[in-house]
Amino acid sequence: MSRPLPVNKNEYIDVVFEDLTHDGAGVAKVDGYPLFVPNGLPGEKAKVKVIKTGKGYGIGRLIELYEKSPYRVEIASSERHKFGGCQLEHISYEGQLTYKENQVRQVLTRIGKLEDVVVHPILGMNNPWHYRNKAQVPVGEKDGKLIAGFFKPRSHEIVDTNESLIQLPEVNEAIQTVKSICSELSIPAYHEETHKGVLRHIMARYGQQTGELMVVIITRTADLPQKNRLVEEIIARLPKVKSIVHNVNSKRTNVIMGEKTSVLWGSEVIYDYIGDVKFAISALSFYQVNPVQTKVLYDKALEYAGLSGEESVIDAYCGIGTISLFLAQKARKVFGVEVVPEAIEDAKRNAELNGISNAEFAAGEAEVVIPKWYKEGNTAEVLVVDPPRKGCDEALLQTIIEMKPKKVVYVSCNPATLARDLRILEDGGYKTVEVQPVDMFPMTTHCEAVAWLEWVCSPKIIFSEPK
Ligand code: SAH
Repeated sequence: MSRPLPVNKNEYIDVVFEDLTHDGAGVAKVDGYPLFVPNGLPGEKAKVKVIKTGKGYGIGRLIELYEKSPYRVEIASSERHKFGGCQLEHISYEGQLTYKENQVRQVLTRIGKLEDVVVHPILGMNNPWHYRNKAQVPVGEKDGKLIAGFFKPRSHEIVDTNESLIQLPEVNEAIQTVKSICSELSIPAYHEETHKGVLRHIMARYGQQTGELMVVIITRTADLPQKNRLVEEIIARLPKVKSIVHNVNSKRTNVIMGEKTSVLWGSEVIYDYIGDVKFAISALSFYQVNPVQTKVLYDKALEYAGLSGEESVIDAYCGIGTISLFLAQKARKVFGVEVVPEAIEDAKRNAELNGISNAEFAAGEAEVVIPKWYKEGNTAEVLVVDPPRKGCDEALLQTIIEMKPKKVVYVSCNPATLARDLRILEDGGYKTVEVQPVDMFPMTTHCEAVAWLEWVCSPKIIFSEPK
């Protein structure tokens, strides 16, 4: 028999919020049982109504706030806040930074058991609005009208929106203009339930330093009705456009981009700069969405790498070579590894574009390629990792421990997996010197951090000798 839950559905209770979930909901604990309540902020006292109870957690609705957080700010649109990727809009920017910095400290202690690690104050933005250089919005139809905006969380209902507070104005304008043109030309929207119709997504990406705009039209069918008119109108109404791309995604899937990509007009890529390094960005490449803070992050990574010009460096999870090319300016040699072959092609092209000849790139899984290099006798003095949210693969961490690069610079978009991986590296002989959180995604719960580790001693784990 399982124990009865400490709360019942429809019950009204008083709580104090302790934390935030990934979606920015307040977390309160009732006898250890977590209750997630949208719009609750840490430190606030409130009356809530329990509206759902599950085995591991419950959901509540905020009824009355007894004590407000000093960081709470009034917001204009609760829809946008709830669904538009601005989960922290109701917290002042100062409050957001405090929350993220504390989160890094807490997980490093709780998950990483790193009691005395130096965590610097988070580096935030001077202007935390309109920073995203890319948007991809789903298209649908409502009452016979073309709509585009964002999905409600955990649903496939599209909310029609005209503006985002976190996208660059050029990106907002591009999306709105293309949406209007598609509507005027009566290009049929895609219907998810029936898997019929044409237009699935509109994507726009803007090179903030170069002023170059790319528009990508994603359709279910290879045929794009009114293709020529569409292109003409986009060119006429969006003077910054340099590239118009058509991507076909015929599958029933949540993945946005599909199997076939062709250039409808202009260049296959747009360009942008991070610092002095120029990047060619194609429709499918990963490129950091906040270029201003990317520079801040990479400068920190470069500082932590402490390069003198003599080192050989491995950049694992290198994407289109952004960090690698940054590092190559100060290293003897850089080797980048990335699982997406197209990104590696971009990385090579980017090296050439910048006249950088001391960077090499390999396509493959970091946890396969780097152990292979190591077995072949190729090591590095500095190793940089920038993994996706799930963190580094255990096999890669083990290879790092065996290879013993003098320094490891860990760029992370998820403090929890960063903390987990730092623990493993510490047990393997590394010491975390310091950690710098960087706010790459204001108004959202996402938090980036870069950690600097030095190899200090033999691993704590002693493997028993074979008998
Ligand atoms: N350092 C780059 C990209 C970081 S995003 C930048 O700053 O722009 C993480 C990257 O890891 C993505 O490009 C993703 O395709 C890649 N990736 C995911 N799993 C991987 C794996 N197992 N091995 C190598 N690369 C991987």
